[in-house]
Amino acid sequence: VEVVTKIPRMRAVVDELRRQGRRVGFVPTMGALHEGHLSLVRLAKQRSADVVASIFVNPKQFGPAEDLATYPRDLVRDCELLVREGVASVFAPDGDEMYPPGFATAVEVRGLSDILVGERRPGHFAGVTTVVLKLLDIVRPDFAVFGWKDAQQLVIVQRMVRDLDLPVEIVGAPTVREADGVAASSRNLHLDEPARRAAAAIHRSLQEAIRLVESGERSPQRVEEAVRAILEAEPLLAVDSVKAVGARDLAELKRLGGLVLVLVSVRVTVEGRDPVVLIDNVRIEVQEEAPPKGSP
Ligand code: AMP
Repeated sequence: VEVVTKIPRMRAVVDELRRQGRRVGFVPTMGALHEGHLSLVRLAKQRSADVVASIFVNPKQFGPAEDLATYPRDLVRDCELLVREGVASVFAPDGDEMYPPGFATAVEVRGLSDILVGERRPGHFAGVTTVVLKLLDIVRPDFAVFGWKDAQQLVIVQRMVRDLDLPVEIVGAPTVREADGVAASSRNLHLDEPARRAAAAIHRSLQEAIRLVESGERSPQRVEEAVRAILEAEPLLAVDSVKAVGARDLAELKRLGGLVLVLVSVRVTVEGRDPVVLIDNVRIEVQEEAPPKGSP
């Protein structure tokens, strides 16, 4: 497999696939690959034989106090995993290739980028949309796969593609979880054993949200409170936010209906290092209730 580091070469590789009439799928990542990333590649492979994956730890989506310096990096291992999945090529540019001196442009999906995770991480989603737009324009795939694990990111990218009429389909992939229910994430590497046990409460809390909605609860506040209570019972977890919103536009709901997202962001205390931020969510299709008996 070719590891492409330069933008013109990446364009030439994809142009050649196009000339052969191939359909190109794209999976952008920041590396430190795990089963979650590989599931995206497999989903892309199911839809198209030719998959390009990118590995780029995008500095623009990290805040000044965030973990850019310590973000796990292992390009050799990542490429081995991608080869095993049968990707056509790997795009792994360096920082200067993507952002040469004087780079001054940013793309931002207003509104959606300032709420939830964006409230805690100002500028984060503008960094994401700026790099994703660049990557989509470099690779020009027919479709690109993003994980529902990062639901807000997926919704924001979908909106950018719609607003800018980008000729690409955005495909959402289900969240891959480990045996204890914790969503696969590069940041899990930082969890010690007690932190890991505490983190398992996140999935439990989201399962409780599903159970409540399925048993008829339609109040976003009551679902949020029940989720929060489960998380707060873990001394090693500090809750950043719990929110039940509309899955298409992240809008606040007076009453749960349609496709709903319950989003959780917590900080896990780990001895000897900064707390680890974990996010997770579930999507729930809320059935309209049958009208009360006797109504016309
Ligand atoms: P990252 O490398 O963290 O930027 O993630 C790259 C892509 O993998 C994003 O579209 C993520 O949503 C997706 N992803 C990360 N973790 C998971 C997971 N556990 N299940 C499914 N997709 C994931």
